[in-house]
Amino acid sequence: MSIQVKKNLVSEAKYALKCPNAMSAEYITIHNTANDASAANEISYMIGNTSSTSFHFAVDDKEVIQGLPLNRNAWHTGDGTNGPGNRKSIGVEICYSKSGGPKYEAAEALAISFVAQLLKERGWGIDRVRKHQDWNGKYCPHRILSEGRWDQVKAAIEKELTGAVSAKKAPASEYHVKKGDTLSGIAAAHGVSVKTLQSINHITDPNHITVGQVIKLPQAASSSKSHAASSYPLPSGVIKVTRPLTKGTNVKQVQTALAALYFYPDKGAKNHGIDGVYGPKTANAVKRFQSVSGLTADGIYGPKTKAEIEKKL
Ligand SMILES: [Zn+2]
Repeated sequence: MSIQVKKNLVSEAKYALKCPNAMSAEYITIHNTANDASAANEISYMIGNTSSTSFHFAVDDKEVIQGLPLNRNAWHTGDGTNGPGNRKSIGVEICYSKSGGPKYEAAEALAISFVAQLLKERGWGIDRVRKHQDWNGKYCPHRILSEGRWDQVKAAIEKELTGAVSAKKAPASEYHVKKGDTLSGIAAAHGVSVKTLQSINHITDPNHITVGQVIKLPQAASSSKSHAASSYPLPSGVIKVTRPLTKGTNVKQVQTALAALYFYPDKGAKNHGIDGVYGPKTANAVKRFQSVSGLTADGIYGPKTKAEIEKKL
């Protein structure tokens, strides 16, 4: 479901003050207003005052309001006349951050969905999202920073983004081979063996699959939740990054289950990084999973993370 944006655009007479330059955006910058005004009030104040400070969107607990056209720049990141924050980024202000509380939380939740929508519309990944602080060091978005939740907010945006993509594919009874895929990687991501995939799909050489090829998946792997859970056995105990690195079947089990939930240890790598080695990339996948699951995002696999993975499989 897409989020409707209300427009209250600045008059062209004020372009010279508020948004003098044409822009082809490359980033989205997140702010907290440090105020307790609604989105409608933030935008009408911004487009009406005589200060050059400007931003594209304000989001509160109920709506998203746009104040500047997206093909014009805004003065919102303090990185100067030609700074990439000011010249190449779309500014999103989250309202009610001064006092916080339920209204702020609802505004932040809507902003997360809205930013995911902006990314999706543009075919962008989470790497396009910045916080104001990244551009000039200002302590903004202040509430997200002071609560230590920036990584969590980003993960939540990413979850909406990838969740929207994977929801379209579900229920998966087949898989379309993409560039860089291997049969063992596909097998691991779906909790089935390479041999099973070979036999269902009549593949004689597992090293020869082609981009666009349709791989049938066994029913248990795609449609039955209880079957799916039992096909991802998870180890007990604690696994973390050690030196030398921890290796073994137990690590592989964790990696396979994470990949099944789309938290790939290394999406671009062979077998999506399912290599049985608990290195920084696997710890990062665990961290991302923990962060969207409301757990302490420490990258250490333990009983709580195990239980949460099992719940989601
Ligand atoms: Zn800011």
